[in-house]
Amino acid sequence: MRSKSVPLLLHVCCAPCMTVVQKALSREGFAVTAFFYNPNIHPFKERQRRLETLTAYSGSEGIPLEIVEAYPLEENIRMLLEAENRCYSCFEDRLSVTADRAHEMGMPAFSTTLSVSPYQNQEQIIKAGENAAFKAGVEFIYRDFRDLYKDSIRISRENGMYRQSYCGCVFSERDRYFKIKSPGMI
Ligand code: SF4
Repeated sequence: MRSKSVPLLLHVCCAPCMTVVQKALSREGFAVTAFFYNPNIHPFKERQRRLETLTAYSGSEGIPLEIVEAYPLEENIRMLLEAENRCYSCFEDRLSVTADRAHEMGMPAFSTTLSVSPYQNQEQIIKAGENAAFKAGVEFIYRDFRDLYKDSIRISRENGMYRQSYCGCVFSERDRYFKIKSPGMI
């Protein structure tokens, strides 16, 4: 527990994952502001549904929320198609924008709710987060929150939250039917 709360910008993939991560970081003494930047989520309707769930939850819990409204679909799909490892590029994009925004807002640190997922490659997330932190001049706070994943499911069910059935991009939406693993999934 820190003696004085440290402002932290938390990249949020979805509200169910934020439930446990925000509370755990707050217990450590971070003053968390949620940050929604996920142009990877396809289609737009799905992105809006996840965002609406997050907006409702943040409002009910009094958690400040910053939203990037832009939805650069062409750029995002081009980036994923051209990437050597599309999940790593996807993590890097989202965490770089979060790190830059933390810097602009005068916040010394950022983190991500991706750290609660047992299905995502945590080594890739750490590498992308640390690279983004180095470039922006802020600290990447990584915690392995995978042991809280079941709690996030329970809390989201108790609160009647929408829970998505695929990671986000159009490829992951297809892959669930073909039992294909994306390069950032384990
Ligand atoms: S599977 Fe998930 S992490 Fe990988 S590119 Fe698609 S949305 Fe991004």
